[in-house]
Amino acid sequence: MRGSYWIETLGCPKNQVDSDKLAGSLLLDGYEAASGPESADVVVVNTCAFIEPARAESVETILSLSQGRRAGARLVVTGCLAARAGEELALAMPEVDVVADVGVPVELALAPRGRGASRWRPRSGETVPSLDLLEMPRRPTDAPWAYVKVAEGCDRRCGFCAIPSFRGPQRSRTLEAVLAEVDALQVREVVLVAQDLASFGRDRSARVASSSDHSELDALVPDAVDVPGIVELVEAVSARVDRVRLLYLYPSSLTDGLVDAICATGVPYFDLSLQHVSRPLLRRMRRFGNSERFLARIRQIREKAPEAALRSSFILGYPGETEEDHDELLSFIGEAELDWAGFFTFSNEDGTYAASLDGAVPESLALERLRECAELQDAITARRRAVLVGSRLEVLVDAPGIARSHREAPEIDGVIRVPTSLAAGSLVGVEVVGAEGPDLLAELVGDRRAGISSDGVVAALR
Ligand code: SF4
Repeated sequence: MRGSYWIETLGCPKNQVDSDKLAGSLLLDGYEAASGPESADVVVVNTCAFIEPARAESVETILSLSQGRRAGARLVVTGCLAARAGEELALAMPEVDVVADVGVPVELALAPRGRGASRWRPRSGETVPSLDLLEMPRRPTDAPWAYVKVAEGCDRRCGFCAIPSFRGPQRSRTLEAVLAEVDALQVREVVLVAQDLASFGRDRSARVASSSDHSELDALVPDAVDVPGIVELVEAVSARVDRVRLLYLYPSSLTDGLVDAICATGVPYFDLSLQHVSRPLLRRMRRFGNSERFLARIRQIREKAPEAALRSSFILGYPGETEEDHDELLSFIGEAELDWAGFFTFSNEDGTYAASLDGAVPESLALERLRECAELQDAITARRRAVLVGSRLEVLVDAPGIARSHREAPEIDGVIRVPTSLAAGSLVGVEVVGAEGPDLLAELVGDRRAGISSDGVVAALR
């Protein structure tokens, strides 16, 4: 046994998958998981750097883990902050033993490289052993669901986003590789993630040149043509597991074919990353769409699947946002009646298009607009939950007492509270007997055997 490791993961589900794969590579290298960061020989922090608050949290976490580690333990920092600002981080934080780029094997990064080499980069001409995190094996999971990352990087150039600058252009995995990982995970629900999920496979077929000419962006409507990659992927994964769910759908890539494929999985859950609805402001964000088009798409989805659940996320305070833009967003939220929505204030990110824009919105006004939107949405979410009382649902039990129907994604939406006697991993029929804000209360109905998951019963549920 080479020693023990602890991985602290910050940020998004994609980072969670990267950590799972880093753990898989450390296990292969003969390390074992430590019970806590204070007892580990190697402490790894997989950081997030999307916006300023995330970077601050990453630095705080590094400092607290450095102070809490045992004497002689090594501290490795990887992830987006290492990719985005590795040099500065290595210079500013001497307590960090190694800052390793995304994908650099922790084992390799720890190898002694002489004094002062705290920023791991391949020496000139030195090739990094091809540890492509995307394709690394996952350590098995105990949970009945798992995120599966199907691509890395992004080809879009949204005005507020720096991700393409440090995660690079989109690199999709092969369908076979994704399916092999799904089979290896042995879970009942797979949550597909990527920076621009609905563009899965596009980079392999044709790299779409993105430009700052907004009419060009509208010309990107060809996005509307079925991108064989994503529909194929959804159908193939859906044939292997009880549930497949998709996160981060760029609106112009949500084609009729993809809507049909998602509805056909039995999990009509649509996570539309809209960011705003005002056409002029979306153009300043270098993004597609407007409220009419989004409302039309939502209506169409609900015609196909009346029980569909919809989520989105919005940015308040983007440079140039006017009261009219904000009023349009408020009326959209009122009319769209989404099940879930997240709101964020604009973060001025170095190197992004937005950083050069005029029309800065005061932080206090952005926060005020966020509060207004969140209040309105919370009431809508509570109302949409309350109407489910009395209905019968099929739920996946994630853990004793906690379950989710097709309407709830893990970790970001409400949950359904069920009897703790139900086994994790079982798919059971329940009746909703109450609602508490975003959460529901439910009682078991139908076949109790479903509570005792055994392959026979599981297969019967398919
Ligand atoms: S789609 Fe836009 S917001 Fe999402 S990762 Fe790509 S550039 Fe960033």
